[in-house]
Amino acid sequence: MTEADATYGGLVIAIDGPAGSGKSTAARRVAAALRLRYLDTGAMYRALTWWMIDHGVDIADPGAVLARLDQPRIVVRADPDAPLVMLDGKDVSGPIRSREVSNRVSQVAAIPRVREVLVAMQQRIIADALAAGEGIVAEGRDIGTVVAPSAEVKVYLTASERARAQRRSADLTADPAATVATTEREQARRDRRDAPQMAMADDAVHIDTTLLDLDEVVRRILALAAQQAVPHG
Ligand code: C5P
Repeated sequence: MTEADATYGGLVIAIDGPAGSGKSTAARRVAAALRLRYLDTGAMYRALTWWMIDHGVDIADPGAVLARLDQPRIVVRADPDAPLVMLDGKDVSGPIRSREVSNRVSQVAAIPRVREVLVAMQQRIIADALAAGEGIVAEGRDIGTVVAPSAEVKVYLTASERARAQRRSADLTADPAATVATTEREQARRDRRDAPQMAMADDAVHIDTTLLDLDEVVRRILALAAQQAVPHG
């Protein structure tokens, strides 16, 4: 069955994995190919972190973060061709990718109440897609375990530390300090901090992308999705 022969309405595809595993690009490509919505949950944690930094909140102090938690207005556009994160009405898709945010986001994401609030928003976005008769690809760290444990397709992407650092460093060419070695060090620290939210679901399919190109990763996820699709009748 090809993408054109089936309907993917109502399908939830969960793609989890660490930074640099290729999940964002793969998730967007899969969503575009199957005409599904696309949710980047990492962007929501990043937007919240960016708001806290921008408003001078001490991120190392969970009480200070919680005191302001209801103030930022985070809106995401779940369109794989033009995903967008708006914060208080402004597009922050650029600044949330900075190294400063990458290096501090895990501290904010580790606060249990922050996770409760963002997970509830993410579940609402998924429910809205399903209510509209559409499907969605959601990517993050805990989609298959916490956000959408009943997702029909669950994929867990990994890659070697060096391969992940090389990919991230290539994404950060505007920042001369983001060498592969520095990126690898910062990434290892982020992995350690993110570890509590990063369990692989028992029913997830593990794909090691170290030696795979993006087309192959996308092809494998599309094959898993095709097994769950409803044929046109
Ligand atoms: O995927 P990305 O690198 O953009 O995620 C940024 C950070 O957001 C992660 O390092 C992690 O701290 C947090 N995150 C999370 N749960 C998710 C997605 C991201 O804790 N589902």
